[in-house]
Amino acid sequence: MDTKAFKRSLQHSENYNRKGFGHQAEVASQLQSEYQSNLIQQIRDRNYTITKGDVTIRLAQAFGFCWGVERAVAMAYETRQHFPTERIWITNEIIHNPSVNQRMQEMEVKFIPVENNQKDFSVVDSGDVVILPAFGASVQEMQILHNKGCKIVDTTCPWVSKVWNTVEKHKKGDYTSIIHGKYKHEETVATSSFAGKYLIVFNLQEAEYVANYILHGGNREEFLVKFAKACSAEFDPDQDLERVGIANQTTMLKGETEQIGKLFERTMMQKYGPVELNQHFQSFNTICDATQERQDAMLELVQDNLDLMVVIGGFNSSNTTQLQQIAIERKIPSYHIDSVERIHSEDAIQHRQLSGELVISENWLPQGKITVGITSGASTPDKVVEDVIEKIFLLKATVAVV
Ligand code: SF4
Repeated sequence: MDTKAFKRSLQHSENYNRKGFGHQAEVASQLQSEYQSNLIQQIRDRNYTITKGDVTIRLAQAFGFCWGVERAVAMAYETRQHFPTERIWITNEIIHNPSVNQRMQEMEVKFIPVENNQKDFSVVDSGDVVILPAFGASVQEMQILHNKGCKIVDTTCPWVSKVWNTVEKHKKGDYTSIIHGKYKHEETVATSSFAGKYLIVFNLQEAEYVANYILHGGNREEFLVKFAKACSAEFDPDQDLERVGIANQTTMLKGETEQIGKLFERTMMQKYGPVELNQHFQSFNTICDATQERQDAMLELVQDNLDLMVVIGGFNSSNTTQLQQIAIERKIPSYHIDSVERIHSEDAIQHRQLSGELVISENWLPQGKITVGITSGASTPDKVVEDVIEKIFLLKATVAVV
């Protein structure tokens, strides 16, 4: 499919909207009351620190809702206002946050059902409204919805669209897109649907394996097994790694994306020499500012003398997991939770480990005076962060009284 031509024709269709419906002012106060927090504003005003009793909270200087997420949520609220009686669907969680998704369901914005890992679009009728989430949707999904005659409200973050434009450029120049991301993540699924040939590498280690194959060859079968779910159809490592371009899932660790870009630049330079480099390597900066700011703020926060960290965000939120990874690498006891309900008591907290496993840790809240670092992923409302801080204050106050 000519994805660029399809996207262009979709954007000119009267059934397509990516700018909202002019109800921004009306939904702004609703969003403010549902997701903003006075306490968090106070903490921001006090240089991101607050102390109550034995607890000092240190907030990261950039955390929580990014503008891409705010924009997507506001557009979803506007869509409900604009189409009060129509059936409204969303192709996936609007963002990776349970409380926001719960609100979507309360507003009768339904998720497309999934059967055996496949979305069942048969439930959608012509004239229904379908919202595409902040991290986008695959070109095939857009095509199905367009052919059905649905009204499409596209909240895809412009930073994600920028990556799609990058892989389109790779395709045009016959470069294979090397995408730093998770092959199952919806954003990477969408990005790869716009690419021509592509290979998804999860981390620097996988990238080094590929770079080594480019320079020295290797076991083709092993390569194909290793990347079986992470490459385009009929990918051939002996043919398709002669010209490569770098792209990324916008929420991966920025430092790692940069290292991967540099690794392939060095690799192609070594193999083809500086004069030929541009014929074999392309790179554009597609790291999202919001992801970068949150990671930089976390790197600053972990310099403080923290007794523990609480990282708040959806369990399938990639950018939250990256923040948690920074704390773990610094050997700070760190708990990734998605809501205040995970804090069972001062002795027990249920949290997600980097492996994805949910575990309960005991004695997580040290006695006496403590400093707790707090941050949250780009899809976490301030209200959720406030609930967690209030709970920590309450538990420590109760222990102090006993
Ligand atoms: S994290 Fe970045 S790319 Fe993702 S929605 Fe927010 S602004 Fe957009």
